[in-house]
Amino acid sequence: MIIRARVVVTMDGPPIENGAIAISADRIVDAGKFSEISKRYSGEEVVDLGEQALLPGLINAHCHLDYTCLRGRIPRQKSFTDWVRAINAEKTKLSPDDYVRSINEGFVEAKRFGTTTIANLTAVPELVSRIQAPIRTWWFAELIDVRDPTRANEIVDLAVEQLKSAEHLGLAPHAPFTASANLYRRCEEIARSKEVLLTTHLAESREEMSMFRDANGPLYEFLKEIGRDMSDCGRSTPIRNFLSAVGRGGSPNRPRAIEVNRPYLIAHLNEISQSDLELLRKSKPNFQIVYCPRSHAYFSHSAFQFEKLRELRFNICLGTDSLASNDDLSLFAEMRAFQKDFPDVSPEEILRMATLNPALALGKPHVLGRIGKNYWADLIAIPVTRSTSVFEEIVGFDQPVRWSMIGGQIWA
Ligand SMILES: [Zn+2]
Repeated sequence: MIIRARVVVTMDGPPIENGAIAISADRIVDAGKFSEISKRYSGEEVVDLGEQALLPGLINAHCHLDYTCLRGRIPRQKSFTDWVRAINAEKTKLSPDDYVRSINEGFVEAKRFGTTTIANLTAVPELVSRIQAPIRTWWFAELIDVRDPTRANEIVDLAVEQLKSAEHLGLAPHAPFTASANLYRRCEEIARSKEVLLTTHLAESREEMSMFRDANGPLYEFLKEIGRDMSDCGRSTPIRNFLSAVGRGGSPNRPRAIEVNRPYLIAHLNEISQSDLELLRKSKPNFQIVYCPRSHAYFSHSAFQFEKLRELRFNICLGTDSLASNDDLSLFAEMRAFQKDFPDVSPEEILRMATLNPALALGKPHVLGRIGKNYWADLIAIPVTRSTSVFEEIVGFDQPVRWSMIGGQIWA
């Protein structure tokens, strides 16, 4: 099959005017000018998308589809800890069927906004076998042992068993304030022996900073109240603490680099001190960073230090986070929110944060996130007028996506 469009944005060289791609089964086999592709593959069926830009499907690097049904249910709270209490209260009202419905609705919405791959954290891995994901999905089991750290290994092993049916899987020790060092360690052990990715939330809020650095604040009080061992608090920043906990043998003052074979997707990283930056520069941990602009704004977190992290050559991706702290699952809206925060970053670089960068973070830079030979045929098309640059138009696109393809299957 040949697909022709006014412009093909490959994310691998300049956009191709009057471009086309050839597809065989679930893969892209060629891309170039329509005149060349139609000659090379003459006799193939041609799908002409007309005045549209054809681009790689978008990749959401951090999401919790579990909470799609909580959209608009949690008004902005005074503190991050109050939000944690509020979402915990909402979660107690959800049945397994509610979760399945919520996740399925989230998938439909993500797809409608042009997302073809998602890194989805779920607190209910036991339900994954009941769900037919309509887009490419990395299922991360979100793990918490704060109420019972003696069960760390058991919790991790059970989740791995529950995710057996998933094509791509990962483990998400929730955050250093809810997951024990043993739980992180067990997750890393599994990631070394199996094709399993790791993700976690780190240095998200000012309250997490107060908890680890100063041993005070609302998050500190809340976790102490529920029985967490707080002896790791009052010593250093969340990042420094995390590196020492998972860096095997490091101490908060002299942490080693994380020794993981695979990318470690780090969500948020909003709270970074000057000494943290210095530490990140020296220890070069294998962090792939996910920034969620609209969830960040919802919580009024400290400014994300994009330029500094980019300077340190970290791979930075975009995510929507969950609808318990966001309005919808559109990565286009995230790109626009990012552009508002960082107007000097080019629209092309912003689009990379929703295509190439997350493909690398998910360990699939050779098949995902761009249009090229042997890449998965995961594509979207959006109308363009060419009144401005094509990248500017893509970032500015604010409608549902009417044409997409996942693994060579058209969804219109
Ligand atoms: Zn999250």
